Amino acid sequence: MTPSIRLGRIFGIEVGFNWSLIFIFALVAWTLATTVLPQTVPGYEALLYWLVGAVGALLFYASLLAHELSHAVVARRNGVKVAGITLWLFGGVSQLEGEPPSARAEAVIAGVGPLTSFVVAGVAIVIAELIPGINLVTALLSWLGFVNISLGLFNLVPAFPLDGGRLLSSVLWWRSGSRVRGVRDAVRVGRVFAYLMIAAGVFGLFLGAGVSGIWIAFIGWFLLSAGSAEEQGSAVRAALRSVPVSAAMTAPVVTLPDWVTVDTFLESVAPSHSFTTYPVHDSTGKLTGVVRLSDLVRMPAGERSTKHLKEVAQPIAAVPVTNPREDLSAMLGRIGGGLDQRVLVFDGGQLVGILSPADIARVLAARETAGRAS
Ligand SMILES: [Zn+2]
Repeated sequence: MTPSIRLGRIFGIEVGFNWSLIFIFALVAWTLATTVLPQTVPGYEALLYWLVGAVGALLFYASLLAHELSHAVVARRNGVKVAGITLWLFGGVSQLEGEPPSARAEAVIAGVGPLTSFVVAGVAIVIAELIPGINLVTALLSWLGFVNISLGLFNLVPAFPLDGGRLLSSVLWWRSGSRVRGVRDAVRVGRVFAYLMIAAGVFGLFLGAGVSGIWIAFIGWFLLSAGSAEEQGSAVRAALRSVPVSAAMTAPVVTLPDWVTVDTFLESVAPSHSFTTYPVHDSTGKLTGVVRLSDLVRMPAGERSTKHLKEVAQPIAAVPVTNPREDLSAMLGRIGGGLDQRVLVFDGGQLVGILSPADIARVLAARETAGRAS
């Protein structure tokens, strides 16, 4: 899920939101303007209901943001890097890079989110109580309190990627001493909750709950797939821990002049090597980028004779780098993203290797075989 729209930086953390939120904005404003507000405080102009409804939708986003920011700030304080926050359909996602250093850190990072939602709810409700009478402002604040309590409670459901799932996994991690086991057992518990939600949604549908039934079943299904992804990710990171980059990288590296055409490269260089990725350099020997064989083969034949490697290479500044001694799991956590990146390995300013997805897959396969044999 990539952030579509950038909002800016708050406390040095990149915040963006996904297009799906525009629908939720409209949905929240609409629900407030046509149902919640007219029912609580009747007798105002429709336009005023809509204006207050729009303010309510903005406050709703501010609440989501407060929840996510609390995760991000506490994560950073516990030594976990935060790539950014994206607000989307189900609330927010903080992209943490790497894993919490301890079970306690994981519990604190996960727990502070719902806590923040409950605090926001408390503040909204107290302010609403302090304002005499019932009007549009108190109605909005009471609604905001209710929404934040719901947000906090929903996030405490013990299933990944919700905070409740992480809290449960941290407790199981602390008890068993193994993060992988903690995650695995928490995913099992989460699966039960996910199936319960799907079943409740389907039953609700038969009992006439309509859209909310579909919605609950959909969230259940989402939790189910997120749990499996979490389990797999944690197993992969564990398998790659304490494996140095040097044990996985391909070395030595063949670098190519960046001024040759794609055709020349495919006809004269590629057949004599078995690499899938080549760094390219300029006439002074300075590295300028990285080309992938698979991208070049896919180019239209007409373009291959005119384009030079320099024009089709991924610029060197965009290629992540590492050193031979870094731990693979730490490296993947640091550069973020999936396993599909090429990483250049430098030692004392010298290019000594290159790490491709195939290299990492090979390590994983070898570890798996070793694990089964023992
Ligand atoms: Zn959260």
